[in-house]
This record gives sequence, structure tokens and C-alpha cells, in this order.
Amino acid sequence: MFKLDDVVAEITDAVKQRSDRGEVASYIPELARVDTSAFGIAVVDVAGNVAVGGDSETPFSIQSISKVFTLTLALGKFGDRLWRRVGREPSGSPFNSIVQLEREQGIPRNPFINAGALAVTDLILSGHQPREALGEILRFMQFLADDSSITIDQAVAASEHRTGFRNAALANYMKSFGVLDNPVDFTLGVYFHHCAISMSCRQLAMAAQFLARDGKHPLTGMSVVTPERARRINALMLTCGHYDGSGEFAYRVGLPGKSGVGGGILAIAPGKASIAVWSPGLDTNGNSHLGRIALEMLTKQMGWSIFRA
Ligand code: GLU
Repeated sequence: MFKLDDVVAEITDAVKQRSDRGEVASYIPELARVDTSAFGIAVVDVAGNVAVGGDSETPFSIQSISKVFTLTLALGKFGDRLWRRVGREPSGSPFNSIVQLEREQGIPRNPFINAGALAVTDLILSGHQPREALGEILRFMQFLADDSSITIDQAVAASEHRTGFRNAALANYMKSFGVLDNPVDFTLGVYFHHCAISMSCRQLAMAAQFLARDGKHPLTGMSVVTPERARRINALMLTCGHYDGSGEFAYRVGLPGKSGVGGGILAIAPGKASIAVWSPGLDTNGNSHLGRIALEMLTKQMGWSIFRA
């Protein structure tokens, strides 16, 4: 058997047995109902081998992992002009923090904190109706994963729309600085819906392959982004992908990664593999507790840390 299959099977067994499962994200009521015993992992290496374990085919709410794809889409449309609206520095603050925005005139620190992702979504929305912008994001995901069955979980989107007061505050605050162009409700609506995209570990790992392959889409050979842009998106994932837990993730796992409060983590081993893990229980920074531990085991055993000599 191929070594990767053994490692993935071993990790799946080890994680399934652990009792420290973290806490589900209760601030989005629909996510609070998810069973913390779930665990999935999918690894797609650059040779096209796929290794999966546990609940790797079960769709879950990708939440903030969608921000990697909206950033990719927005960079494709606006190029470096995007950086007038959002910075590229780690925030050192929680994902939904509002304090930095006041000090920095409404310009969010990076595209992965909620404020930054709202600014990116607003750019994608400009010149379109919310429905069209959302359709474009969803079709992009379906194209990347080569899977037209990927959908949006309307119950999760509605749940967050009802309770997303903090995101509404962030969006209104940025609007007051002129950082958002569209009606706040429209931007929020598209944001909540792209966070509510449902995907399995396998679909996510497939969709992100371009980041492990210098920007190339493996099936069509098309350049999704240039090699330089793929490197830069990976750099942002490494420095900002886990909010104020980004340093700890780099220290323990050593890969670019992006977490979501649905319990998923997407990680990229550049030139080697695209990896998705899912365990719904979160740590205190809002990142998947066992997902991170699974990735730590994987990079250690495969020797995939980008810091390895
Ligand atoms: N939709 C979530 C929010 O805006 C995303 C947060 C996350 O996944 O980290 O609160």
C-alpha cells in the first residue's frame, strides 16, 4: 500500500479515539447542531493520488475557508488594486474584532478576518446583483472541484443572517469609512451565503489543488492564478489563515492553512499536496481542535512542513 494511505488511516483511527473534541460554534445556531464525533480527512497529492479517511465524503459548512476562494476570484478581477481596500498583515485579534478597524480607518488588516473578507466580497459584488455574484462564486467552486453538486446550505445562511449582528456592525463601520461600495445588506447577504457553501473534505482538497501546483488546475491544465499569485495566497494563509492562532498553526503544522468555524481546515503543502480535514469542535480561537492535531500528525509523518530543511 502507498505510504500516504497508511498515514491517513492511522491518523483517522487516532483522532476518532480522542475525547478532547473542542466546542462547536454556537453563535451560528445551525452550526451548534453538528455532531462533534465527526471526523474527515482527504489528501490529494500532486501526482493525483487521493487518500481519504473517516467522514471524508460528508458535506459540512466551509465557512471561512470560502475566503481563500473569494480572494482568488477577486484578485483575478481586480489584481493588486484589491490591496487598496484590505491589508496583508496578521491581525493578532479574533476573527470578528472591530477595534483595529477604528485605528486603521476602516481598512481591514487582511482578507481572512471577517472585515477583510467582507471588503473582498463587496468588490466581487460591484456591478452585479447579489444573486449573480453568489452564482459566480459557487460556479468557481464547482469548476475548481470539478463537481457541479456543490451547493449552499440555505438553513446555515439564514441562521447566520438572523444572528450575524457582529458582521453587520463590521460592515456598517467599514461603509462609514467608504470602504464598501454596495448596500451593506447586499454585501452581508453574499458573504453569509458563500460562508454557507457545503463541501466534503474530498471536494475541498480537490478544489484547492491549484494552490499546491503553482496555480494550475490539474484537470484542464488551465492557470487559475499565476505561480506568483499562488505563492502569495499561500503566504497569506500561513500568516493570517487561523486568525490569532496563526502563529501556533505555523509552529505546529508548518503549512499554509485556512480554518472555518464549521470545523474544516484547508492546508496546502506546496508542490506536494492539497489537504482538507474536518472535525466540528473548535479551540478557543475558533479553529478546529482535532483538525489541527490531525494536520500536525500528517506533516510530521510525511515530512511536509515548509520549514523542513
Ligand atoms: N461566517 C462566519 C462568520 O462570519 C465565518 C467565521 C469563520 O469561519 O471563522 O462569523
